[in-house]
Amino acid sequence: MKTTLLKKIWLSPPHMGGNEETYVKEAFDTNWIAPLGPNVQQFENAIEDFVGNDIHAACLSSGTGAIHLGLEILGVGQGDEVICQSFTFAASANPITYLGASPVFVDSEEETWNISPGLLEEAIKDRMSKGIKPKAIVAVHLYGMPYKADEIHAIARKYEIPVIEDSAEALGSSYRGFNCGSLGNIGILSFNGNKIITTSGGGALLCKDKKIKEKAIFLATQARDNEPHYQHSSIGYNYRMSNVLAGIGRGQMEVLEDRVEARRHNFEFYKEHLSSIPEISFLDEPEGSFSNRWLTCILTPSFEVREKIRTTLEHENIESRPLWKPMHLQPVFEKNVSFVNGVSKDLFERGLCLPSGSSLETDDLERISEIIKNLLK
Ligand SMILES: *Cc1c(COP(=O)(O)O)cnc(C)c1O
Repeated sequence: MKTTLLKKIWLSPPHMGGNEETYVKEAFDTNWIAPLGPNVQQFENAIEDFVGNDIHAACLSSGTGAIHLGLEILGVGQGDEVICQSFTFAASANPITYLGASPVFVDSEEETWNISPGLLEEAIKDRMSKGIKPKAIVAVHLYGMPYKADEIHAIARKYEIPVIEDSAEALGSSYRGFNCGSLGNIGILSFNGNKIITTSGGGALLCKDKKIKEKAIFLATQARDNEPHYQHSSIGYNYRMSNVLAGIGRGQMEVLEDRVEARRHNFEFYKEHLSSIPEISFLDEPEGSFSNRWLTCILTPSFEVREKIRTTLEHENIESRPLWKPMHLQPVFEKNVSFVNGVSKDLFERGLCLPSGSSLETDDLERISEIIKNLLK
């Protein structure tokens, strides 16, 4: 006997707004296919207008590439150390190693799940006492929740260490009225397929200093000197965004606010329907923080309960995902220095991301909530 599967529900699928095809067609009609062109300019303008705070945006081929260029522009190189939030996706840390530098991992606090100010200062003091001053700090607004920017940036200023603000998951989030991406010395965004808006693949580097944007574009387009022939005085990359993909980005920017609203609605729905279950808890926004609620995360009492929910959803053709596995627990980083308090390990073991796409329908949200409720009854 064949069982019919219920409709697949993805964790965070792309959600087009409608005008993306118009802008992509424009690129085709005008033959602006390779590689730069007016869509890139327009997409950058739209990002700059949205983020505000006098920000300049350089569109790139990925968020990972944006972090790589950001670190290089901040002067990170061979043998350096860079402090990195441990509780994050690997792309926050990997680019540090591309430059021959080593990430030093710092654990999280419980109010935002992001880099702990206390541990950050401890880490800086420890490394400095050993004669190694960290070259930069990579702080992350994980799942769209802003990190404690006032405290983190005060420490960064005190020790004069620049901050890369990883806003890959936080476009549309804000902290004390300022949009995420505009808080650090350099901010980065991602437009990967699972992010709040997508160009199928892409990213951006954000900065207040126009010269940094120019430097990023220079490095992202093979670092060509200003000569009629091809001359190079430094090593470059091929990291610029294509004009075709920027067309998708233009369309997506038009619906960004709707996407934030939909994701926040998902969170509210789950909270309303599941918070009566004593085993399940949610992360609230601290005063002054506004989260785009990129992914709705729940905390369960144990690894076993988390796995029970995850596998039951899987059998029902519903995708969910454990919270990010901290970098200090990753085999590839097991020899790296880390400053740990147990918070991110515990979140990883007990936490689960529920389907959070902006195209989820009420029926889907009800179906997911009912399954979890029945399971824990
Ligand atoms: C997605 C993501 C990145 C990398 O972005 P890509 O565009 O996929 O390269 C970096 N940091 C975090 C926290 C992310 O979630």
